Amino acid sequence: MIGGSGFYSFLEDVTELHVETPYGPPSDALFLGELAGRQVAFLPRHGRSHGVAPHRINYRANLWALRSVGVRQVLGPCAVGGLRPEYGPGTLLVPDQLVDRTKARAQTYYDGVPLPDGSASNVIHISLADPYCPKGREAALTAARGRGWEAVDGGTLVVVEGPRFSTRAESRWHAAMGWSVVGMTGHPEAALARELGLCYTSLTLVTDLDAGAETGEGVSHDEVLKVFSSNVDRLRTVLFDAVGGLQTNDARDCLCSHALDGLDTGLELP
Ligand SMILES: [Zn+2]
Repeated sequence: MIGGSGFYSFLEDVTELHVETPYGPPSDALFLGELAGRQVAFLPRHGRSHGVAPHRINYRANLWALRSVGVRQVLGPCAVGGLRPEYGPGTLLVPDQLVDRTKARAQTYYDGVPLPDGSASNVIHISLADPYCPKGREAALTAARGRGWEAVDGGTLVVVEGPRFSTRAESRWHAAMGWSVVGMTGHPEAALARELGLCYTSLTLVTDLDAGAETGEGVSHDEVLKVFSSNVDRLRTVLFDAVGGLQTNDARDCLCSHALDGLDTGLELP
């Protein structure tokens, strides 16, 4: 689970584990615990003190570190802006599509560039037509419904580079394209997870209406934090329930688990 301390600080018997990767250090240590009889690793996406900006996150190290401790299914909750008036603050949306508008993020393991140990990946191309795990999405939607929180089933998350918020023109453009919500961290997380054969499910919590979808001052950081903190308890509950609804790692049989079938990555995946 990639999310802040608001999620793992409620678990008992959490072990902190520092992991190194060929891509450098992840955002923070991994916090290992148990939930619903499953082993779970938590990684604070922005570091425990929230000091890593969205465009500075080492996404490759984060996903690699998670896989190296045995993670095969990732839940990636994130805060987003709503691009439609009906997706107001407090809306939970489980997207089924993704648009990448980031600019300067390392977003592949398979670019042939040598790693520190001298090994290099092959240049390969994976499918991301359906970027999210269908089984994971179902688990998330079922968990939300079970807690009386009717989540929006499907929609497009557009990911911008940040750290600034969108201009009104950008926001109106995103909305006119039919996209649903906008955030800063959902990509390349989803793509990198797929490149490692991991399931990835995004749960987006709307904290504000984006600049083009409302007529006021535009989104502010304070507003985002306020809405996020007032929803974090029920989001954590839904996430914890969703963990119990995931496939077992051994029984995975979704498109994500077959992403690397027949491909020679050239890398020894952890
Ligand atoms: Zn999957």
